[in-house]
Amino acid sequence: MLAFDEIVLTTPLGWLKQNLDAFNPPLPPRLSKAIQSMGYGCLEKAGFPEINAQHQNSNLSQVYISFPKAFWLTPDAEGRTVKGFCQWLSPRYAPDSNSEAWTNEIVELASLDPSVAHPTLLFYTYGAESHHITSTLGTFTNEKEKEEFLYDFFRPYYSRLPSYDPESPDCKPVACFATDWLHDELAGNGSYTNFPVGLQEGDQDILAMRFGVPTEGIWLAGEHTAKFVALGTVTGAYWSGEEIGKRIARAYGRLKDEDNNNQGGSQGEEVHEEKGPEKGLEEEKMGVKEELDSKRKRDE
Ligand SMILES: Cc1cc2nc3c(=O)[nH]c(=O)nc-3n(C[C@H](O)[C@H](O)[C@H](O)COP(=O)(O)OP(=O)(O)OC[C@H]3O[C@@H](n4cnc5c(N)ncnc54)[C@H](O)[C@@H]3O)c2cc1C
Repeated sequence: MLAFDEIVLTTPLGWLKQNLDAFNPPLPPRLSKAIQSMGYGCLEKAGFPEINAQHQNSNLSQVYISFPKAFWLTPDAEGRTVKGFCQWLSPRYAPDSNSEAWTNEIVELASLDPSVAHPTLLFYTYGAESHHITSTLGTFTNEKEKEEFLYDFFRPYYSRLPSYDPESPDCKPVACFATDWLHDELAGNGSYTNFPVGLQEGDQDILAMRFGVPTEGIWLAGEHTAKFVALGTVTGAYWSGEEIGKRIARAYGRLKDEDNNNQGGSQGEEVHEEKGPEKGLEEEKMGVKEELDSKRKRDE
């Protein structure tokens, strides 16, 4: 068995939610409660009773559909084009495939910088629609069937883009790709942290996760522990790792508070404005150091 003084755990919140029993001794009650309370992905539990417990962590998914040409950038008879984002709000015109009128949205990738632009539509889906798409794709045995399903499912929307012509080869999809984080264990079966309706102490929950269990040498990092402005983002995940590194270095006397301030660190001033779960952050930092000191003494 391997032994470590400190562990920085960066598994997704979805993984933590499903694996609380992996910790022995168990995580402190406040931290366990925080992990259970926060949402991971879309949490419309009441609206989708048929979705089982795991799928309540239902996610934000992406479907990419490529065309020979970005026809939507060619002005139509009314001079309309679509550049950047487009949404189809509560569409009622696809009752067979979308009887719930799930809203759809795209980012079109043809208007990006020419060095990376390509004639592709990126559809974002979430919640029940995401669940429907990923679970339906899972029933097909070959790629052709998956493609046909995705082209048919999204045709009611991309066919409403300017300059769409069903007869034109430019408007016939040539490739597609769908993410499936819902069924990806390493993604925690979902996307990223959210604040579900009915949450009582979301800010304290985040702080409890961010605090970790220093006395046990367990530190959590990742988007779910990021500073509030960057929760659920790559930047936030990166910052959280930096901050944990500093806290550990500080606890081992390798980093003074002044060093942290002078570096200007990515987390900037907010570090000193936030409050710990039960005490101010300065006290929290001191607390961490004292706890680690006493832990080290116990270990010696
Ligand atoms: C559709 C979508 C669009 C997004 N768009 C943006 C955006 O535009 N900008 C933005 O900033 N963010 C965006 N995000 C969010 C961003 O992707 C995440 O917040 C970020 O990747 C989280 O980083 P992380 O390090 O916390 O977790 P992850 O990147 O999920 O990393 C967790 C790691 O833990 C590993 N792991 C999991 N389980 C175990 C295990 N049991 N043992 C060992 N390792 C394990 C995984 O393999 C993975 O490497 C988007 C997310 C989604 C789903």
